[in-house]
Amino acid sequence: MNISDKNAALATIAALEAKGDISSLGQAINVGFDSGLTVSEIKEALSQLYAYTGFPRSLNALGTLQQVINNRQAAGLPTEQGTEADPLPADYNALKQGTDVQTRLSGKPFNYEFAPQTDYYLKAHLFGDIFARNNLPFATREIVTVSAISALKGCEPQLRAHVAGARNMGVSDDEIRALPAVLEKNVGAEEAFRLRKAIATVFNEPFTEGDPVENQVFPTGEPNTAYAKYFIGNSYLAPLASGEGKLGVANVTFEPRCRNNWHIHHRGGQILICVGGRGWYQEWGKPARELHPGDVVDIPAEAKHWHGAARDSWFQHIAIGVPAEGATTTWLEPVIDEEYDKLP
Ligand code: MN
Repeated sequence: MNISDKNAALATIAALEAKGDISSLGQAINVGFDSGLTVSEIKEALSQLYAYTGFPRSLNALGTLQQVINNRQAAGLPTEQGTEADPLPADYNALKQGTDVQTRLSGKPFNYEFAPQTDYYLKAHLFGDIFARNNLPFATREIVTVSAISALKGCEPQLRAHVAGARNMGVSDDEIRALPAVLEKNVGAEEAFRLRKAIATVFNEPFTEGDPVENQVFPTGEPNTAYAKYFIGNSYLAPLASGEGKLGVANVTFEPRCRNNWHIHHRGGQILICVGGRGWYQEWGKPARELHPGDVVDIPAEAKHWHGAARDSWFQHIAIGVPAEGATTTWLEPVIDEEYDKLP
């Protein structure tokens, strides 16, 4: 591992704070103390994060920290206080200090002219007042920021900017590359996926993880976490068209062995257009149908069915929800291994 236990723990704490996963955060803070993090360091990281994730997340996480400290003290476990930040020098100028820090982080001067007041907050407050506190080095602050933004959906531009910022603040490429595995293990697949993708872009490397099918045409998209509870295995979803009054069209990618539960599309039905790999479709009471690119499945409304990948291949189909008044989907029992393993 190219990352210290302390920094791995801090990255985990930061991402769980941003995700709002308070139940896992307490355990992560305990691991942090056992790895040698101090109260001062954890408190500083969670305080800094209010600028990225808002006061509600930050305050909830600080509350969890306080509770963990109390529990550890009651249990006779150590909690190292650590060093408080030094007082700021008498001639401290928040705007000047912050502008210097921001320029170093961005690699060039950054001026947000559209919203001058926000430009001032970024410089004088975030990169000035907060970063001037010397109980966390700049490099560590960037590990905290990168990990937290990995847990914020839709902030990919900022995530890429801070991966570059981490480099500019002295975090080694090896350490940056170690972060996604830390998030995968302790926080979630979606957060790790986002960070891997951002790192590949910033490091100017191909991101092949999202293109598992040979000669792939349509994008893989992101981990299909919203429907994960109705799937066995990992799937990915790339909306191709969506929104009010639109036909719902998405490219769905299944890893080998991944399949969805038995389910029913009421009223509208569904059309699958197979675009990559090898997969299966089965209707209740009928033999499974093997699928290859070019195959089309017209699933009638009210038919109980499942679809997914073959055991030895990724599979992709475009799914089109046939529009109908009051169309819904009912999710039923999973396709258990005993059933699935009968298929070649
Ligand atoms: Mn279906």
